[in-house]
Amino acid sequence: MKQTAHPDESTAGADGAARATDTLPLLARALRFAADKHRDQRRKDAGASPYINHPIALLAILSDEAGVRCPNVLCAAVLHDTIEDTETTVEELTAGFGQVVCDIVLAVSDDKGLSKSERKRRQIQHAAELCHEAKLVKLADKIANLRDLVDSPPRDWDDARRQAYCEWARAVIDRLRGTHAELERLFDLVHARCAARFGSG
Ligand code: NDP
Ligand code: ZN
Repeated sequence: MKQTAHPDESTAGADGAARATDTLPLLARALRFAADKHRDQRRKDAGASPYINHPIALLAILSDEAGVRCPNVLCAAVLHDTIEDTETTVEELTAGFGQVVCDIVLAVSDDKGLSKSERKRRQIQHAAELCHEAKLVKLADKIANLRDLVDSPPRDWDDARRQAYCEWARAVIDRLRGTHAELERLFDLVHARCAARFGSG
């Protein structure tokens, strides 16, 4: 009898290759949407990498390195900076990707109307209150940013600023420990690299 895979699951065929599931069209749409919204933006590294590399990094951390399969989490990871950093509206995200995905993106978005120091303070304060899905995206975001800090840092940051960012990121992640062991291990690994490089720890 023909067996139907659960839409949340990615399954491997006899040849070991991943079989397409219902998640892939959703992710393809999210990637196209994020690439369009971030099309004129660059990261802060010396090479001014295309911004879309960052959401793609989150997707790879979650799906490839940590084995996360939830379509809503993967989709929200791809879209996670669209509300905060582009003109994307809540209505657009909800219409295109549904309420659950939009709520995860909103949960990990800073309020740009607040001062930078207040936004930083609130990320620490609210990390523990995030839903599980938003915590996964938050973990992947901080892993990706600390990796960038070591491998392709903002061009004008000195060691003290990198160290300060590193310690702030750890303060956020320390508030959501117990969410996902592998993601937390990956965070601790890159934090240790930062500590060795910039003297934080
Ligand atoms: P910002 O918040 O301004 O910049 C960090 C953010 O930039 C990341 O969270 C990431 O956000 C994005 N980003 C883009 N490109 C890169 C990249 N190549 N590597 C890493 N991140 C990138 O930093 P802060 O102002 O918080 O500075 C860090 C710390 O330094 C702070 O804790 C602050 O106390 C201290 N400091 C700040 C000064 C200032 O002028 N603001 C001066 C001296 C010290 P996303 O994922 O959203 O893209
Ligand atoms: Zn981000």
